[in-house]
Amino acid sequence: MIYLDNNATTKIDPKVKQVYCSLLDQLLGNPGSMHRPGQHAKQLLIQARRSICEFFSVSPKHLIVTSGATEALTMAILSCPPSSHIITSSLEHAAVREAVLQTSCKVTWLSPESGKGAITADQIEKAITPQTAMVVIMAANNETGALTDLQAIAELAYQHNLLLVVDAVAWIGKETWKTPAGKVAICMSGHKIHAPVGIGCLVYSSGFPLKPLFSGGGQQQGLRGGTESVALTVALAQAFAQLEMVRYDEIRVLRNYFEQQLKNNIPDVLIHCEHEPRVSNVSNVAFSQCEGETLLMKLDLASVAASHGSACQSGALEPSHVLTNMGLSKHIVKRSLRFSLSRMTTKEEINRSVAILRSCLVEE
Ligand code: PLP
Repeated sequence: MIYLDNNATTKIDPKVKQVYCSLLDQLLGNPGSMHRPGQHAKQLLIQARRSICEFFSVSPKHLIVTSGATEALTMAILSCPPSSHIITSSLEHAAVREAVLQTSCKVTWLSPESGKGAITADQIEKAITPQTAMVVIMAANNETGALTDLQAIAELAYQHNLLLVVDAVAWIGKETWKTPAGKVAICMSGHKIHAPVGIGCLVYSSGFPLKPLFSGGGQQQGLRGGTESVALTVALAQAFAQLEMVRYDEIRVLRNYFEQQLKNNIPDVLIHCEHEPRVSNVSNVAFSQCEGETLLMKLDLASVAASHGSACQSGALEPSHVLTNMGLSKHIVKRSLRFSLSRMTTKEEINRSVAILRSCLVEE
């Protein structure tokens, strides 16, 4: 199988798998226990947490290890002061949308300018009211790869003393990360960066008034109860450490090569957000000859995995909310597929997938 659906999930990195499996093989204690196995587990946990925090340049007391980005985003968003105002966008993932709707706040849903893939700082500034308490924004879009100008939005949030929640899922592991200043909470999922599914994190700055979703036994500074998974936390730390070796430009060169090959071999391809700043690994492409769902099935039979919309929605017949809210026509949205590469994708796989795409489309 040629796997071009890395924005849905990624293959576990061999080194991450090695440390994870070796910890599963050892009899580990509960990091909350006083005996030696417990204290050993605690030391491993402390070390792993430190290492994750180095990636984000925050103190370990500002890290909450979660089950994934959905939990992290929900926790950060539900920390918004009640009955205030939240500014977010219609391009956000369902994890954000559902959490924002659970608050008692008034919500402004911004949409980008027609055809564009990201919300601007200017749009956010115009939406600020005296009641605004929080901005929730994705650093990069998971479907198109379009980059948000995070530094500009963070500066704006800082100037207006707003809480800023950043969905960093589609950015981390695709571009170099820099944690913005201000009252920020950053959310991500491990399985998007070659760690196992079931672990993610939220890092936050000292001014962010984080509230627990559940307190349980008071673990993680009383903000996220429940016995910590040492093996998963160590695996996540290892996945972050592996990112230091990643050459994002090499992924970008391969993605650009893929797009060039598509243009050279297939008539009328339209690449969404092609001329905007994008993360290194995504191509979202409309093919005039065939509807996305049909093409996706043909590709699957020919051993190429791609995606039509985001993974959580695949299977649903609804068109992508991201492309729709970018103002693209239903006709184009229905003909669009997402291809997402990883550092494990090879040029040989790209050449084969273009040849397969071409033959699938010739049959139409
Ligand atoms: N945010 C974005 C941009 C995503 O792409 C996803 C998952 O696809 C999530 C949040 C939710 O992540 P998870 O399902 O790992 O909790």
